[in-house]
Amino acid sequence: MNNTESVFKELGFTYNKDNLYFHTIDTMLNAAEKLSIPKRLQLILAQPKNELIVHFPVRMDDGNFKLFKGYRVQHNNVLGPYKGGLRFDNTVHLDHIKSLAAIMTIKCALLELPLGGAKGGVQMDPRTFSADELMRLTRRYTSAMGNNIGPDYDMPAPDVGTNSQIMAWIADTYINLDNRKSVGGIGVVTGKPLCYGGSHGREKATGQGLVYVVEELLPEKSMSLENCRFSLVGYGNVGSWVGRLLCEKGACMIAVGDHTGFVKNEHGINPFELARYVEQQGGVAGFSGADKISEEHFYKTEVELFIPAALEQMIDVKKAKMINCKVLVEAANMPVTPEADQLLTSKGVEIFPAVLCNAGGVTVSYFEWKQNRQAETWELDVVDKKLKRLMNKATHRVKRMSQELKCDLRTAAYCVALKHIDEVYEIRGIFP
Ligand code: GLU
Repeated sequence: MNNTESVFKELGFTYNKDNLYFHTIDTMLNAAEKLSIPKRLQLILAQPKNELIVHFPVRMDDGNFKLFKGYRVQHNNVLGPYKGGLRFDNTVHLDHIKSLAAIMTIKCALLELPLGGAKGGVQMDPRTFSADELMRLTRRYTSAMGNNIGPDYDMPAPDVGTNSQIMAWIADTYINLDNRKSVGGIGVVTGKPLCYGGSHGREKATGQGLVYVVEELLPEKSMSLENCRFSLVGYGNVGSWVGRLLCEKGACMIAVGDHTGFVKNEHGINPFELARYVEQQGGVAGFSGADKISEEHFYKTEVELFIPAALEQMIDVKKAKMINCKVLVEAANMPVTPEADQLLTSKGVEIFPAVLCNAGGVTVSYFEWKQNRQAETWELDVVDKKLKRLMNKATHRVKRMSQELKCDLRTAAYCVALKHIDEVYEIRGIFP
């Protein structure tokens, strides 16, 4: 029985390697073993502190009511209040949200933010909802959460299927409930619209953070962004910002895919035109600035960087066999299955891990929360500069750890985060 299995046994879980939650915790515990993190901390981190499930009805436009299941999982708050996205998606279920909450704990610790990790979700497809239905669902979810969220306790943010409008409805509902009229109430969520407590640079933050990481790590591989070819899967908020920002740095986007299809242009796809097109049409299929290609052609296209920016576990062994790149940059959380990870590594592909690459989002969320607490608005250049500084420092910590432990960047990133959490547990002690 390996370490993860024995930790799970002690917690009464049955180990199932195909379950995303076990896979997340396995990654975390393997890193913990490398650092000889005490077993008691491994047990604490192997399960979330709180798992909240709520059921609530919502009136649909046709007058009927539908019942929904909402989740909020609060993984760990030793470093500070819980923080993490809220997802509206058909794939949402408890173990899925538990994994993403644990990953938030790691991301916040890696960046040394004074925040813990959480994640929430509602299982539904927001594309089939009218704006009014979405608003009613968001407000009911918020009221069902009650005091389990709050600006000093747990602050949701946008994630897959949610956006700044939804954050504004959450803040408004939260403030109206129980007459919470204090200035700080608005800090209950981040990723809000700019006119209502949002931060400059939050919308592009995840993409911007990724670009800062890539700029730091590519020279290690004797590569640079100048004329570097890349392909992207997913052209939503994260993917489209990654596309635009990498091209501004001289890289060339030659292929893009999403749920509607795959397109390619050897001479480069204009990322701004594609972003406008996707916003109007809902996907990349039919974009006139590139040719339609098959899924197989897309994955086999030779590029320097391959960037998955859609959902978890999207790169399986079949796709990993086809991928033809030097570096795989994880923009989405856990986009690569453990088997695909092994295969890519054996092919000599370096993986830049998600917990580092996509931590820019929560970092600017932290800036937004800070601005709300101080009733301040920071200029974009201030936000960008602070983000670059924190991303660069985290990247250096990961590089150093990977050299010290002679391990891959993913293990190193988890080790940096766990070392920080362990240190704080040691100092704080365990109550009572
Ligand atoms: N949903 C984003 C993430 O997974 C942002 C979380 C936040 O800003 O709190 O990192």
